[in-house]
Amino acid sequence: MTSVATVTAYPMSDEEREVQERARRFVDEELIPHEAEAEMNGGRLSEELRRRHHHMAIELGLYAMNMPKELGGGGMPTFQQVLVSEQIGRVTNALGWSIRGERHECYAITEEGAGSDVDAIASIARRDGDDYVLSGTKMHVTSYNTADYLFFQAKIADGPNAGAHAMFFVDKDTPGVRLVREPAYMHTYADSHAVVAFDDVRVPAANLIGAEGDGLGFTYEWFRYERLMIAARCCGAAERLLDEATSFAKERVQFGRPIIDNQSIAHMLADSLTELWAARLMTYELSRNIDRGLEVKIQHAQCSMVKLYASEMAGRVADRAVQIFGGRGYMRENVAERFYRELRVDRIWEGTSEIQRNIVADQLAKRGVRALAG
Ligand SMILES: Cc1cc2nc3c(=O)[nH]c(=O)nc-3n(C[C@H](O)[C@H](O)[C@H](O)COP(=O)(O)OP(=O)(O)OC[C@H]3O[C@@H](n4cnc5c(N)ncnc54)[C@H](O)[C@@H]3O)c2cc1C
Repeated sequence: MTSVATVTAYPMSDEEREVQERARRFVDEELIPHEAEAEMNGGRLSEELRRRHHHMAIELGLYAMNMPKELGGGGMPTFQQVLVSEQIGRVTNALGWSIRGERHECYAITEEGAGSDVDAIASIARRDGDDYVLSGTKMHVTSYNTADYLFFQAKIADGPNAGAHAMFFVDKDTPGVRLVREPAYMHTYADSHAVVAFDDVRVPAANLIGAEGDGLGFTYEWFRYERLMIAARCCGAAERLLDEATSFAKERVQFGRPIIDNQSIAHMLADSLTELWAARLMTYELSRNIDRGLEVKIQHAQCSMVKLYASEMAGRVADRAVQIFGGRGYMRENVAERFYRELRVDRIWEGTSEIQRNIVADQLAKRGVRALAG
């Protein structure tokens, strides 16, 4: 007889379930036990542990999962990448970032005058013989301290494509790439978010990715991918918070009974579970449809919808979890406290909630309800 759990679980092939379980075991056994230690140590773990996690991620086939197999990556379909990202989202302090490839990248797009409005960037790329000379200052460059290379977005300075966006590949040790400062942020991650200056950085023309004018297209492609993966990680975070808050509410006794016996506590958990299920179904269905070849414009709107909904859902779940844990929920050793801070940025990076709503509303006006949610 089929068990109730099998019937209610989201339908998946044996291979997909196995990938999910493999990622779950890695997170439960190798990463979660080190969260509190990382929190108290500026997000850092010992070099030995860091190397162990990285090697294990490679051995388990969980690293560089979006890279084609021919290039040494995992070559996973989008749905399987979502399953892995969701598990990675269950751990705090970005310990799950150990699944990145052997050489790390970082993205230098945002500037002081250009955040939501990417087209306002002032960085320029000037062609000089067989080279380009890059200049500008970027901020919030995530993982600059651990990266080997950067993606740098600029506008072409002159010539027939003057003003067009272009994306460059820049090795971090190229002369002229200069760390300005590494400000402190709300979460406790080992990866910094740096301000980086490019002082006449000379790179070969071969470092231009695609053609002059392709820059924004690459950025939008990355946004679509990362918005979906943020949604997946937020679902994972909400699952973990619900697991932990439910266990606590069943065990914690006040006034002679477990606090879950109070309707006000039980309803917070019920709302959280309901919203998690909705966000998860949206995220799973979209990733399956991307694998089936969903039209890019629809992907663009739906990636905004899942990022918007899942990040706001996870924020609400974290807030309720802190409340359910009471004073313990305000302690840094508690998972709810860490997620309460960490999940806040998911409503800001890769496009704020306001920008996601603008994209969705724009697509709604152009295409109608049935195209986007039919
Ligand atoms: C921790 C962290 C890491 C980051 N990592 C990177 C990175 O690696 N690389 C990178 O290039 N960038 C990175 N960013 C930058 C991030 O993508 C931007 O912060 C984000 O896009 C918002 O830009 P902004 O901060 O300049 O806010 P602004 O664009 O100044 O917006 C401020 C407020 O105005 C609102 N607003 C702006 N325009 C509109 C509008 N048209 N309609 C309604 N509301 C609007 C916004 O929603 C927001 O509430 C990171 C940011 C953070 C916090």
